[in-house]
Amino acid sequence: MTIELLMLGGAGEIGANSCYININGHGIIIDAGLHPRRRDRAALPELERLGGRPVHSFILTHAHTDHVGALPYVVKTLPALRMITTRPTRDLVEIMLRNTMKLFQLEPTVELPAGALDYYTPAMLETFSLLFHTAAYEEPIVLSKEHQPVGLSSMTDSNDIRLTLYDAGHIIGSAALLLETNGSAVIHTGDIKFSPQALLNGSSLPKHHVDCLIIECTNGADESPHSYEEEKLRLARFINHITNQHGSVLLPTFALGKTQEVLKIIFELMQAQRIPVLPIFTGGMSKRITKIYDRYAHTVPRREPGFLLKSIPLTYINYETMMSERFFREPSIVIVSSGMLNEGSPSYQLAQRWVTLRNFGIGIMGYQDPSTPGYALLHSERGVEFSMGGVNVTRECELERFRFSAHAQRDELLEYIFATRPKHLVLVHGDTAAIESVRATVQAHCDDISILVPEHGVGYQMEV
Ligand SMILES: [Zn+2]
Ligand SMILES: [Zn+2]
Repeated sequence: MTIELLMLGGAGEIGANSCYININGHGIIIDAGLHPRRRDRAALPELERLGGRPVHSFILTHAHTDHVGALPYVVKTLPALRMITTRPTRDLVEIMLRNTMKLFQLEPTVELPAGALDYYTPAMLETFSLLFHTAAYEEPIVLSKEHQPVGLSSMTDSNDIRLTLYDAGHIIGSAALLLETNGSAVIHTGDIKFSPQALLNGSSLPKHHVDCLIIECTNGADESPHSYEEEKLRLARFINHITNQHGSVLLPTFALGKTQEVLKIIFELMQAQRIPVLPIFTGGMSKRITKIYDRYAHTVPRREPGFLLKSIPLTYINYETMMSERFFREPSIVIVSSGMLNEGSPSYQLAQRWVTLRNFGIGIMGYQDPSTPGYALLHSERGVEFSMGGVNVTRECELERFRFSAHAQRDELLEYIFATRPKHLVLVHGDTAAIESVRATVQAHCDDISILVPEHGVGYQMEV
């Protein structure tokens, strides 16, 4: 049997992630991402590269913008797709797309396909969650060319595809996919985390042999993994140091996933008396997202089943009044988006003031793209003027970087590849260094694995 793979976005980078795969004549698009930085043609998946290829199903691995932000464009272009995701992801789609719509309103776009943004309206966004069929983890469903997704008992045609979603351990609702037909198996990891975080368990993806493994490589070049426990203790030391000098700590975080994990980490540190009980401030769209985490506290696997984020005492920030909030007078912890301090975001506005206060501290919590104010801040020197989002500032506050990645570490990626020993290995969702590092290591150890580093828009045939 031949499988065809065509990357519509997210090849060789973390971009407008979208992958077309044709198994046994059944065309499937996995994810429809918005590129984190580009606002030209590369902002959206290149659907025109499909040519006349058939597309029957759309599977959404999770609700981060680089996987869901182009959904309105895909639905407009291919309106008859059968769409499948998990229940938490379905609930998150509208919140995330509202944010995407704002991005398109604020940031000028060029050379997008005609009508590409037509469905980015509040009325349309409300309808998207209704389009999805939901599937539970580890309960296989059948993708048939003729029918809606159905239960296994209805699998009649040997060309039908059996789809099983597994917990990817990345954010709430995140799924890795196993596609099986005629004795062949394909796994697409989506964004994946194998070890547990503070709230979520690690991925439940099985480790048996597969014919084709499509795997993300975000941390593929990071050879010195950071222990979650050590990072937690470093964060505690930083919070104690700053608040002991009567300052407050600003933790810029992504609204979906990282904010909820960091809230849990801070709460655990307080409960273990590693830091004092301090006021915690958060806000923005993370409030609605946190509610969805709590909605599935019992039904989605997590380290402490039933744990509710609302049991953590929080104050929600009002953005209009935040510049006069009490965290400027009283030692506090402030957890707000964006994670990379994008211009105009609450974390960006607060950081403008924060940097001028010598006894305050900022903890950079995740990856910073070189084009962002967060990157400029991360590489700033204390007491030296620099440009943060086009504004010249001098950083007086203290700064620390913490690594709580929601992506698999390099050694975990390799361990998984060696365990599944795929006939075909496809490396995606990573920069060139990350993908090249994984490719070289696998090649050096297993000469029976055929490795593909796909390019955008090129169709690859794989015999399985
Ligand atoms: Zn993600
Ligand atoms: Zn991603």
